[in-house]
Amino acid sequence: MKIGIIGAGAMGSLLGWHLCDRAEVWLLDPWQSHIDAINSSGLWCEHTGAPAVRHPHATTTTTDIGPCDVVMVLIKAHQTAWAAEQARSLVRLHPQAPSATTLVVTLQNGLGNRDILATALGAERTIQGVTSLGATLLGPGRVRYAGQGATIFSALPDESTARLADLFIACGLPAEMSDDLDALVWGKLIVNAGINALTALLRVPNGALATTPEARALAEQAAREAVAVAQARGVRLREPDPVAHVLAVAQATGANRSSMLQDVLRGSPSEIATINGAIVHEGRRLGVPTPVNDLLTALVQALDATAHVRVGE
Ligand code: NAD
Repeated sequence: MKIGIIGAGAMGSLLGWHLCDRAEVWLLDPWQSHIDAINSSGLWCEHTGAPAVRHPHATTTTTDIGPCDVVMVLIKAHQTAWAAEQARSLVRLHPQAPSATTLVVTLQNGLGNRDILATALGAERTIQGVTSLGATLLGPGRVRYAGQGATIFSALPDESTARLADLFIACGLPAEMSDDLDALVWGKLIVNAGINALTALLRVPNGALATTPEARALAEQAAREAVAVAQARGVRLREPDPVAHVLAVAQATGANRSSMLQDVLRGSPSEIATINGAIVHEGRRLGVPTPVNDLLTALVQALDATAHVRVGE
């Protein structure tokens, strides 16, 4: 199987490292020194033992890659439209043989990424997945496998998705398919909405939200609004108490820096628009008030916009 991974950040690199064991993997990313490091010294992955090296293909340009069986999008949300453009030359369409058509998969967090890709590349071939894997980029050519967990793909189209799930499993990554991906996407969205923006604004690790009453109250309010929007949308959430689940995740990942905190510390645009911003957007559409998510969105957007004039410690 030939797989093009657009976005060789933490998650793209982690998946590329695993999948290149049994597939032809091409990593595409604009970060030149990362791509150069992979091509000269391989991609190193740190997990429990000593770091191990593998050799996926890596490039900054799609012309090196050509058509793929699967295109996986793992870029940050503000670059999804760019990824859709890049993916055009990696996608193969076989109307007479649907199984030979390229499958496009996004495992990005938040809402709206799949819609952008589906509009550009075709809804029938573009699916959403959710991953509980954790990854941290340590530097050019180096990634840390920060957390194990299942990757769940939306069930359609059956055949090519099943092949991809089988490949994940063969490469040591738990994977399954689900008919009710909405529940999974919204379950993860609620957790991200409760944790990410607050940890980015307060500059604290996840655990502080569970242990500090003032922060905990805000996380609960953000999560409660997100749950109300999900329920108004008719999503059948899996967690019996989704708000308590947010705090349980914050506690279980207590030492972690959320991805939004990492983005803000690095001065990179965050995914606020597709996380808390998406809750606000859906809330407006469905007539559900979301004042806390609205304020969190505005504050993180202001943080993103002022990164270049930030005053140091
Ligand atoms: P990332 O921040 O690691 O990488 C995003 C982009 O930033 C990449 O193009 C990368 O090359 C560039 N970049 C990263 N570090 C850089 C540096 N020091 N200098 C210059 N450029 C740099 O993004 P990610 O964590 O892989 O996230 C990709 C998508 O996957 C997002 O939608 C995210 O929500 C989702 N996701 C991530 C995780 C995770 O554990 N990382 C888990 C689930 C979902």
